[in-house]
Amino acid sequence: MSESKVKRGANRRRFFFVVTGLNAAAPAAISIFLTLVAHAWSQPVQGSLEVRWDEGAANCGATSHEPLQVHVYDPQTFILRQSLCASFEGNFLYLLVGSDKALLIDTGAVADSTQMPLAKKVLELLPDKDKGKISLLVVHTHGHLDHRAGDSQFASFASVKVVPADLETVRAFFGFANWPDGIAQVELGDRTIDVIPTPGHHPAHVAFYDRRTGILFSGDFLMPARLTMEDSAAYHASAVRVVDFVQAHPLTHILGGHIELDTAGHAYGMGSHYHPNERRLELSKEDLLALPAALEGFNGFYARYPSFILSNPRHNLAAVAISAVALLIFIVWAVRRLLRRHRRSTA
Ligand SMILES: [Zn+2]
Ligand SMILES: [Zn+2]
Repeated sequence: MSESKVKRGANRRRFFFVVTGLNAAAPAAISIFLTLVAHAWSQPVQGSLEVRWDEGAANCGATSHEPLQVHVYDPQTFILRQSLCASFEGNFLYLLVGSDKALLIDTGAVADSTQMPLAKKVLELLPDKDKGKISLLVVHTHGHLDHRAGDSQFASFASVKVVPADLETVRAFFGFANWPDGIAQVELGDRTIDVIPTPGHHPAHVAFYDRRTGILFSGDFLMPARLTMEDSAAYHASAVRVVDFVQAHPLTHILGGHIELDTAGHAYGMGSHYHPNERRLELSKEDLLALPAALEGFNGFYARYPSFILSNPRHNLAAVAISAVALLIFIVWAVRRLLRRHRRSTA
């Protein structure tokens, strides 16, 4: 064999080795590439929570306060907070914009548009589409009045649909055949929102999970505030349901309906319009993971945790009523005893 033939043979073998090596490695490389791309696509869009909310005032009449503060989390996600001077509730509302439509979660505690120009502000924030505004769906975390008082402001707009917050409508609209089991979806166009039943604070409470940002909008189910329960067994089942859900989904933040705690974890007085040193709005996955055990160990009246307070107003009210009756019985007993003594001493 000539030297050139030997070289050509060696080159062919090297080429064959490289090609077969590539053949073997290609599926693995493509699979890794696709996994990386899918991973990058499934990563939540990052946004900013760097905002200083208006702290209200002890005397709201003495200073002026914007009724509605808007924070841009990202260009398609808005956090709106109602001024503590407009309502002590200081509700947080959320506007999520997709390519087909937008979703407003809750309408807050104030109906009067002259005091709280909610519909005007929300429509300003919406992008244009087809010579008008993109259509808007208004939903609620639950039916307490401080989360739906602003509904009436949207009634006159043809491009807006308001979903009433009662249980029957919520079940029918989202298509829950087996409430409170199952997860429903709302499609906004390139943005899917999961709807998770979370009764306990209110019978028709739901939480919304935004796959785009990885945020859980938790209403009054979980927030840095007093978590008040109407039905503690349903509340616990909801906590377990949400924990199960977030184990399978990336979670960036939990944003609720109110802030009632200061940075030291103390609650502001009920009905206070002034929240100095307010705690941050967002809660973490750890706060959620702590909720089922906190509910299991709850004494039924009041318990303080670093990021929330558990409270059962009915039980607390019953305890106050029992204490008041006991005090009354004691006073009657003491007065009768004094009168008897007085009669004996004057006889
Ligand atoms: Zn509520
Ligand atoms: Zn509320």
